[in-house]
This record gives sequence, C-alpha cells and structure tokens, in this order.
Amino acid sequence: CSFQKEYKVVVLGSGGVGKSALTVKFVSGNFVEKYDPTIEDFYKKQITVDQQPAVLEILDTAGTEQFASMRDLYIKNGQGFVVVFSVTSMQTFQDIQQLRDQINRVKGQSNSPIVLVGNKADLADYRQVAPDMGESLSRAWSCPYLEASAKTGYNIEEVFRVAVGEMSAVAKAR
Ligand code: GDP
Ligand code: MG
Repeated sequence: CSFQKEYKVVVLGSGGVGKSALTVKFVSGNFVEKYDPTIEDFYKKQITVDQQPAVLEILDTAGTEQFASMRDLYIKNGQGFVVVFSVTSMQTFQDIQQLRDQINRVKGQSNSPIVLVGNKADLADYRQVAPDMGESLSRAWSCPYLEASAKTGYNIEEVFRVAVGEMSAVAKAR
C-alpha cells in the first residue's frame, strides 16, 4: 500500500525569531544566516511514525499575509503548531500569547497540539527570557517546552519529533 499519512505542522511566531532558520535546518541540515523574511513556504520531509513512513508537511509562515483571514486559513488547515519565540527577546515571548488565542479560536478548542520553542538558545549572553518562564508558560498551555538553536542544531530534530508525536496522539484518540 503506497498510502502515507501526512502530518501538517505550522510554524508560527514573530518576525526574526528563527522560524525559517529552524525549518530549513530541520529539512536540509543547513543553517541559513540570511533568509528572506517575507518568504512563506511549504516544506516536506519523509519521517517515520510508529515504524511507518509518513510525510511531514511544514508551513513556515512569514506574518506578511495581507488579510488576517489568511492566517486563520493556515491555522485551520494545520494539525499541529510549533510556536516559536526567541530567548533573546522578551517582546517575542509576549507576542505568542495572541497566537495561542488565535489557534484556540480558529480551532474552536483549547487542546490543539502545540510545541512551545525558545529558539536562539546559543546566544547565552543576550538571553532575556529565562528557561523558567518558558516552562511556566508551557504548563499554563499544557504543552511541551523546548529550547533550541537553529544555529547549532540543538533540539531541532526534537522539536519536530515532539510535534509529530502530539499530532499522532490526537489522531489516535479520534
Ligand atoms: P523568521 O523571521 O522567524 O523566519 O527568522 P529567520 O529564520 O529569518 O531568522 C532571523 C535571524 O536570526 C537570522 O539572521 C538568523 O540567522 C538568526 N537566527 C535564527 N535562528 C537562530 C539561532 O538559533 N541562533 C542564532 N544565533 N541566530 C539565529
Ligand atoms: Mg522567515
């Protein structure tokens, strides 16, 4: 049987937090220093879930959509969400609350699979968001929290592995 399960994950977060860097690192293994901030694209990667081949489709969003309804549409189509802030920017940590509100509103439920990611963990000298803050927000959201670095590759595979695990758990519960 050639049918493969597809998992659709949407990468959300403020501009500059490293959504594209994280996605491209996961898909290609390369760290891109300068990625066009307006590019919004789908990527596909072959993965294995419960020993079965599957396809992970990743939408790297850019926050440039002209209509708020565009973003609602991707959220509607997404099965799981990687919500990214930068540990070097308190503002980006504050910005994500409204993303979660939007996910809950569009999905009409408060338990969509989300992985909260504090990216740029390699920039220790510029840290503004302590690990405790990410952890306490993830408890409030009942979702996993991972710190990661698209630059060093730290936890990049893990972010998507955890996202897929959450999505497949939801699919099984259905
Ligand atoms: P996006 O707007 O969320 O897609 O952010 P980008 O992926 O374009 O990244 C914004 C900037 O942050 C770029 O200059 C990246 O090279 C840099 N960047 C992204 N992730 C990391 C990281 O983990 N560590 C460091 N040091 N820089 C990063
Ligand atoms: Mg980008």
